[in-house]
Amino acid sequence: MAKAVATCTCTECGKEFQATSFRRNTREADEWVKWAARHITVCDECEKNAAEEEKNRQNDEAATRSAERNYPELVGTPKQIAWANTLRDHAMERMEKWLSDDATQAFEKYHADDFRGILLRKVEASWWIDRKGQCEMCTSDSVAFGALQRLMQDADHERLSELAVAHRAWYHAGRPDPATMDAAPERPTVVPVDQKYQASAMIVSGENRFGVPCVYATFPEKNEEFRIIVKSMGMIWGDGRWNKQMLENCMGVENYSAALGSRLLNAGFPVKFESANIAHSAVESGYTPINFRTIAWNKDDRRFLIRWPEENDHYAMARKLPGSKWERPYVTVPVSAWAAVQDFAMDNDYFISSAARQAMEEEETGTVCAKPAPAKEHIPADNTPEVRDGVLVDLIDDKA
Ligand SMILES: [Zn+2]
Repeated sequence: MAKAVATCTCTECGKEFQATSFRRNTREADEWVKWAARHITVCDECEKNAAEEEKNRQNDEAATRSAERNYPELVGTPKQIAWANTLRDHAMERMEKWLSDDATQAFEKYHADDFRGILLRKVEASWWIDRKGQCEMCTSDSVAFGALQRLMQDADHERLSELAVAHRAWYHAGRPDPATMDAAPERPTVVPVDQKYQASAMIVSGENRFGVPCVYATFPEKNEEFRIIVKSMGMIWGDGRWNKQMLENCMGVENYSAALGSRLLNAGFPVKFESANIAHSAVESGYTPINFRTIAWNKDDRRFLIRWPEENDHYAMARKLPGSKWERPYVTVPVSAWAAVQDFAMDNDYFISSAARQAMEEEETGTVCAKPAPAKEHIPADNTPEVRDGVLVDLIDDKA
């Protein structure tokens, strides 16, 4: 191994500087020194400055283009904004390329501003910087389109889904002139007369990854009152939004959404609803109030699951039921106590799920629905040696 040190002259700043490398032997080192003197012509400092300049040039270019295209201003520190602007510029370039492609359908072209808006509504510089990998320039068009879709998905999953549904409808209708189709109406926003907050809460529905219908709620800012309301509606926080699985007591997505919307509107939140129907039902109180005192059924343990909202403390009362156990967040009671559970539900106005109701009926009529244990087989005795503490008994030292 031989260290090669070449003295080079920087063509940018004129300074002399040293470049080093390791070669297999002195001969190769000498050759490298000759090569380096001719080919390494910019010092580290100048190279760094050039990279910095190139970055600044890109940022300036992106800023100019953003201004020309009237993109919304980004929010963040000046440094973040400069960078995020470039990332957004790359993503929007890709968007424009897709929208103007011959293969892109009339529906998408007609809704171009809607698609642009999905990304342009993202004005936090940090949002773009967090997704820098998805914003980088790609060589292949299909990779670029995939990344663009992922970005849109991240930015406004709900709006993108609405457009996808509308797109399918348009396609099945034989691709008419998209202008004639009321393709994807914006979600209606209701602003309460006693408006207390500027931003809008949003209530949408979907399915969780287990295929269970859910209602989701979001508010763009941290807000304690919002948090208290969604929690009082049994929502839990996950994946950046509040969500509630639609169990029977919710009476369906529309009913639950309207009930939640009504509470938010009454607290002074503007609310964006998924449909005009739900909005109407929330404003007019046209929904069935949700009973959060529930009795559900666990068919594996054959026990009733009793649960009440935070504001009621029914623990002591529920624990008086025969055979009760505390299994957070439920008090559970064995099926044998079905009659007592029924009385408890009646006295305290609990909602009984249909599975729990069925279990009660089956108990009452003597029908037993059981999960049988595996059938036993007679196993003939054989001469398998006895094992104690993992050691064959024959091998255990008697004196030990
Ligand atoms: Zn230099």
